[in-house]
Amino acid sequence: MAKAKAKPKVGIFGFTGCAGCQLNILNLEDHIVDLIGLIDITTWVMAKAENSPGPWDIALVEGSIAKKSEIERIKKIRENSKILITIGSCATHGGLPAMRNLRDTSAMKKTVYGDTTDHLDIMDKIMPVSHYVQVDAALPGCPMDKNEFVRAVKALAVGKTPQIPNFAVCYECRIRENACLLKEGKFCMGPVTQAGCDALCPSNGAVCEGCRGPVAQVNWGAEYKILQELGATPEEIKRRFLKYCPSTADMEEFQELVF
Ligand code: SF4
Ligand code: SF4
Repeated sequence: MAKAKAKPKVGIFGFTGCAGCQLNILNLEDHIVDLIGLIDITTWVMAKAENSPGPWDIALVEGSIAKKSEIERIKKIRENSKILITIGSCATHGGLPAMRNLRDTSAMKKTVYGDTTDHLDIMDKIMPVSHYVQVDAALPGCPMDKNEFVRAVKALAVGKTPQIPNFAVCYECRIRENACLLKEGKFCMGPVTQAGCDALCPSNGAVCEGCRGPVAQVNWGAEYKILQELGATPEEIKRRFLKYCPSTADMEEFQELVF
């Protein structure tokens, strides 16, 4: 009888974030049996008492890199993993924790901890995982989309590259035949945001807040003009542009528009 193929060894890791993406994995009731049949989760501190030190076939990484100790840790995980996937916008873009990049970290540390802050392992800038190590694929979203996660893990388990959309949320909105919220005068970020959530918010009457980060070949200028014409102030537009990706503000056009 042919020997059964070994399941890929998977490690799930949390860095700086709210742990909502890991909770989303724990909440995969409908899919959990399928996934357990396909992969062997050897490391997951949030869910297991005994954890392997590696190596792993696939590392799934949640959270941004905010501490010096996290740089060493992510490099070790990378060295010991064949494939590394970021899950959620913190890991992919810096996400909500990186909003701190827009403030004076030293002043904030002093306010919270007083004058003695040297012992704190807190870096001035919070960065996405890709700033420090190579990332093979990214599943953005705050939290990451459960269905997209399941599709990606199933693809990875059979040695395929996950298919991540490279078009905007607007495209999914049109497929769902939603009325356009920009046309209703609402400040929607759909035109500049990467699809993959099936236009979740506009389909439920709420604007896209841009939680999946910028779409490829994003046109910030066109979105800026639309929001301006709808009456948004430069401060409001800046807040929307920077909400989920304040550490990816190295895009020239983006910088010129919002600073
Ligand atoms: S992406 Fe959102 S849900 Fe996931 S860890 Fe970051 S803040 Fe939490
Ligand atoms: S519609 Fe926008 S804010 Fe809502 S889940 Fe999708 S990307 Fe995130």
